Amino acid sequence: MNVSQDMAGFHAAYDRAIGTMRKTLGRHHPMFIDGQSVWTREETIDRSPIDTRVQVGSFQKGAADHVRDAVIAARRASPEWSGRPWPERIAVMRRVAQALRTHRFELAVAIAYDAGKNRLECAGDVEESADFVDYYCSQMEQNQGFLKEMQSPGEGGISHSKLRPYGVWAVIAPFNFPLALATGPSAAALIAGNTVVFKPASDTPFVGLKLYEMMVEGGVPRGAFNLVTGSGSTVGQELVENGGIDGIVFTGSKEVGMHLARSSALRTTPRPVITEMGGKNPTVVMPSAHLDKAVEGVLRSAFGAQGQKCSACSRVYVACDIRERFVDLLAKKTASVKIGNPLDRDVWLGPLINEAAVKTYERAVRQAVEDGGRILIGGHRLTDDPLCHGFYVEPTIIDRLPNTHPLFSEELFVPIVVIGDVASLTEAIELANRTEYGLTAGIFSEDPEEIDCFFDHVEAGVVYANRSAGITTGAWPGVNPFGGWKASGSTGRGSGGPYYLQQFMREQSQVRVNLSCQKE
Ligand code: NAP
Ligand code: MG
Repeated sequence: MNVSQDMAGFHAAYDRAIGTMRKTLGRHHPMFIDGQSVWTREETIDRSPIDTRVQVGSFQKGAADHVRDAVIAARRASPEWSGRPWPERIAVMRRVAQALRTHRFELAVAIAYDAGKNRLECAGDVEESADFVDYYCSQMEQNQGFLKEMQSPGEGGISHSKLRPYGVWAVIAPFNFPLALATGPSAAALIAGNTVVFKPASDTPFVGLKLYEMMVEGGVPRGAFNLVTGSGSTVGQELVENGGIDGIVFTGSKEVGMHLARSSALRTTPRPVITEMGGKNPTVVMPSAHLDKAVEGVLRSAFGAQGQKCSACSRVYVACDIRERFVDLLAKKTASVKIGNPLDRDVWLGPLINEAAVKTYERAVRQAVEDGGRILIGGHRLTDDPLCHGFYVEPTIIDRLPNTHPLFSEELFVPIVVIGDVASLTEAIELANRTEYGLTAGIFSEDPEEIDCFFDHVEAGVVYANRSAGITTGAWPGVNPFGGWKASGSTGRGSGGPYYLQQFMREQSQVRVNLSCQKE
């Protein structure tokens, strides 16, 4: 099959999945604790950001008590799951990966309705989820379950280092990759032998439910993976405060992530807290850059998923001599982007996640204008019917703001990119680093020495050069590990990379001395 036949097949299957999904929208869904469906007295209606008249479903408003029950269930399931030989756990998790692939279209459409992403973004979210599971399984295999023989302690003895699970982990996920960033951490925790209490973002409970279904289909035993829906301030907060949680893995904003880290530090006993947080990711465009590539790479990273990627490129530092040409080309290319219902096959840019995000967008545009910035393109909410029923805004490029302006350092999480001028690579790197974040960064330059210098000096966990498919975005499990420095992440170890899975285990150093060899 050639690419166009592949794409025709993809779209036909996607269309069929939309048709099927439409018939199931608007239902009432329970949480799942200890394998049992749990209903509460209060529900929240999950509406689609594509069109808020569409009810994706009604979900339970979980409270602290539900978290407590889920923690008890996860603790009860822990001895059996952690006690299984690791190849057995991996066999289950490989089946979860298979379930994700089998239901790829259904899952992609669920993501589209819940999070408003376009077809390829949704399909990518699902494929990445399955690849996360497979990659962490293969890590366990390659490391033989992380049991290593050490040097002999003498006396005929033998010493091992063994990584063992902590117990129960809380997985707290964001809305923007509602499947991949829930599946990845959950799979890592489970493969390592932990059990899990999972809380999806309030905006994307439907996708959270779908992940639960995939875990069950793969054969994850009852109580080992529990789904609690509800708000961050109730369900999330109880996960942080509950004494039965042995580790937390969080992906989301710096504000919430640091709150979790601070709260955990106040406990009487320590526990691991993995926080993957925000970004304000820069791209540098040097005079030698291939301009078409640079325009393509910036456009994809700035506006893909409506700028709602932690890795989105939200600022560009371009060499003065080429800035006019670059900005011109970027604005022209942005003008050709199709905005609309992301369920449609030819739409690239869908809606923002909610009204608060639109307000952030409008506030930033206002602030730019008030402070003398020039809106090169965009700047408006789309209010024509039917887009007025969703959260649609134009992709926006702003220049002529001073490089010290707050819009160069504040994470907005909307499709706005600011352009600054630089006279040298040294100045560009200095500006790139002038932010509390350190997630991703990119450079366009045809000079290998400039690229080396950029990689050596830029403060970011993920760096790219000359990547037109996305200059700050597009990490992939097993290919391009993903994790932030500074305020973007607490561990310095990327998800989908060789050092990630170990974080869900603690070392036990085991020394055995053969009794018959012991001296009297
Ligand atoms: P968010 O508002 O921080 O929410 C993330 C999760 O935390 C949600 O499930 C949220 O629940 C929960 N939460 C909120 N308050 C809590 C509390 N007090 N205790 C415990 N949990 C709480 O982030 P978001 O808006 O969903 O996602 C966007 C952010 O995520 C951006 O900053 C982006 O850069 C970052 N992000 C980072 C990465 C990375 O890998 N570094 C990847 C993706 C996204 P509710 O939804 O119920 O409030
Ligand atoms: Mg939703």
